[in-house]
Amino acid sequence: MTWFEDLSPYTYLEQDRGEGMLNVGWLEPAHAYSIGTVPEEATAALATLALDPQGRTRGFHTCGFCGDAGGGSGQVPRGSAEIRVTGADGTRYAAPTLVVHYVTSHGYLPPRGFLEAAVAAAPPQPTPAPTPDGPHPRRPCWRRLLRPGRVG
Ligand SMILES: [Zn+2]
Repeated sequence: MTWFEDLSPYTYLEQDRGEGMLNVGWLEPAHAYSIGTVPEEATAALATLALDPQGRTRGFHTCGFCGDAGGGSGQVPRGSAEIRVTGADGTRYAAPTLVVHYVTSHGYLPPRGFLEAAVAAAPPQPTPAPTPDGPHPRRPCWRRLLRPGRVG
């Protein structure tokens, strides 16, 4: 697999060079990477984004640390594409889908701006399923209706 330093200019796919994207999560065992705890929300966002990746490449990458292709249970996509997100400040990031595996299996801590962009870009997480205590198909959200709103 290819190594790029975090936040270096993106050059991997030729047709996307010069787009001003920054690399995130192109890890190789020969190079040190930041380790830390990624907020659960960000991990979930990355996993969601990896299900609908962009920048598909012809081959697929395997994890250089453990040989895993990130395909394990079939839930996690293989490292054959990229997660691309844009931060609030307009910074664009491109990460291999394997970044999810690096975070969950190898303690990788991606740059903060990338994580924030991922959380912002991911579709809203589904609300927890109601407890199966009977059908409540059309329960209105009273709390929201009754809460005094703050305007402005
Ligand atoms: Zn691995």
